[in-house]
Amino acid sequence: MDGFVDKSQIKKEREKARALKKSQWWKQQIGPGVCYHCGEKFPKEELTMDHLLPISRGGKSTKKNVVPSCHGCNAGKGHLTRAERLLEEE
Ligand SMILES: [Zn+2]
Repeated sequence: MDGFVDKSQIKKEREKARALKKSQWWKQQIGPGVCYHCGEKFPKEELTMDHLLPISRGGKSTKKNVVPSCHGCNAGKGHLTRAERLLEEE
């Protein structure tokens, strides 16, 4: 089945993401305070860790697959509003 990801794998990758967030490497990534998606500047506290390929689609919590993202981009991926996303998921 295409796109099927084991629940235990999702859990594992989420745990790896949590560990990665505490790393010195991640602090360097969010240091400049720039969102990877929109390029705007934000206070460090407002940047979240975003997976380029979502864990739910088989993405891994590796340095290559995670980027700093503002809440707006992380929630809407820059294209759709929350309402539009909800409609799409129906
Ligand atoms: Zn952004």
